[in-house]
Amino acid sequence: MNQHYPFQLTPLPYPYDALVPHIGTETLHLHHDKHLQTYVNKLNEALQPYPAYHRWSLRRLCSKYTSLPSSICTEVRHNAGGVFNHELYFACMCRGGKPPQGKLETQIDRCFGSYSRFCEKIKLAASNQFGSGYAFLVLNQYNKLSIVTTANQDTPLPRGLRPILNVDVWEHAYYLDYHNLRADYLDNWINVIDWSEVEKNYLREL
Ligand code: MN
Repeated sequence: MNQHYPFQLTPLPYPYDALVPHIGTETLHLHHDKHLQTYVNKLNEALQPYPAYHRWSLRRLCSKYTSLPSSICTEVRHNAGGVFNHELYFACMCRGGKPPQGKLETQIDRCFGSYSRFCEKIKLAASNQFGSGYAFLVLNQYNKLSIVTTANQDTPLPRGLRPILNVDVWEHAYYLDYHNLRADYLDNWINVIDWSEVEKNYLREL
């Protein structure tokens, strides 16, 4: 995720049918190969005429888009966010995920009461996100875990929050499998969270 221009599509870290029956093969093909690829392409197109920003990392572009020229500020906000959010989303899923362990489990218990309380809380936040967006598990400035949401392709990075897990609630993430039933998608997404990957993110961000 610390790449620079020109950005490239990160391959899906598991087979396209790995998350069946929770998330279908066709959904993953469209979501990764079409939607994410489009964000990568549009980000590169926006940055191409501006070599001054070709060394900026994806995180820096997401955090500091307001300091870019106004001609590309919005494009970068949408498309760098689109790349960052999708890479995190795809990286944090796997087949047959096990519940969190170790230091992260302790922190989840401390901050949310229990793992099941955490699950209820992030599903509620994601359900209540009006329209397109994401729910995130983040580390705040006090190194405490909390849940936040963003609209569209915004990330929590400009707020100084460090995301370690997210769930995409754009309709393209679930419509083929669940039609309009976002809550059913969220119940299933919980089953494919790759907590070993989330723990790596957590330890890296501490
Ligand atoms: Mn998406």
